[in-house]
Amino acid sequence: MRLQGKVALITGAGSGIGRATALRFAAEGAQSVAVDIADSVAETVAEVQAASGDAIAVHADVSAESDVAAAFSRAEQHYGGLDVAFNNAGIMLDDDTDAVATADDTIDRTFDVNVKGVLYGCKYAVEAMRRRGGGSIINTASFVASVGAATPQIAYTASKGAVLSLTRELAVVHARESIRVNALSPGPLRTELLMSFLDTPEKRQRRLVHVPMGRFGEAEEMASAALFLASDDASYMTGANLQVDGGLTAAYVTPE
Ligand code: NAD
Repeated sequence: MRLQGKVALITGAGSGIGRATALRFAAEGAQSVAVDIADSVAETVAEVQAASGDAIAVHADVSAESDVAAAFSRAEQHYGGLDVAFNNAGIMLDDDTDAVATADDTIDRTFDVNVKGVLYGCKYAVEAMRRRGGGSIINTASFVASVGAATPQIAYTASKGAVLSLTRELAVVHARESIRVNALSPGPLRTELLMSFLDTPEKRQRRLVHVPMGRFGEAEEMASAALFLASDDASYMTGANLQVDGGLTAAYVTPE
């Protein structure tokens, strides 16, 4: 029960990492506000409640500042404060390729959700955590912020680099307010986001050859890492980039 008595807000909670984290946080005693633009967030909350957990659903588009403000305000009103913010919602658009071919509106939409969405989440989390006397913010970046891919999604990659740098700066600025800010960088996962993109065995194998562990990660493995960063187990950790990627970013030559 590492989050007993804590209130957590999780964006992108309707699917993948966010859904798995909402379930895990609830199992560890948290009261959670599950936020998503998609209706599936109601299913996540129903699953949490079916397992005797405590959560509410909020529909919000993280790229709209007023939606984010309303979601954080709901958390404080309903549960009396906020201890953990997991700014996890993100998109990777189909027509995001290289610098020459990627359309301007694809770049804008990607940055609106992946960068401004995270920044808004940090802004309202900091305000709520100041009222609480501290807290833990976790921003989902990606392994692509640290290594280049010859199969590019240039807007997505750049947006995740921005998540890492804004996380570091926020961590330093708010360190003496007991607000910790860390990034979680997942490796390639067996979630809907990536599997719908890697839709043939050949495409999947092209990626797996670069992962020392030789498999995709699971959303639940990211939830475990988010739990660590959210909990007091990570009490001396801020400004870090926790890479949970099967060894991908450590590798030059992988095992046969
Ligand atoms: P997913 O597509 O399964 O879930 C993402 C969720 O975010 C969805 O429920 C979606 O509705 C929601 N969302 C999208 N735009 C939103 C918006 N504007 N407002 C609110 N909610 C919005 O993906 P996932 O794999 O769980 O990804 C979660 C995070 O992890 C993302 O930031 C993604 O970039 C990152 N990530 C994923 C992988 C991977 O391999 N899946 C790898 C590295 C990083």
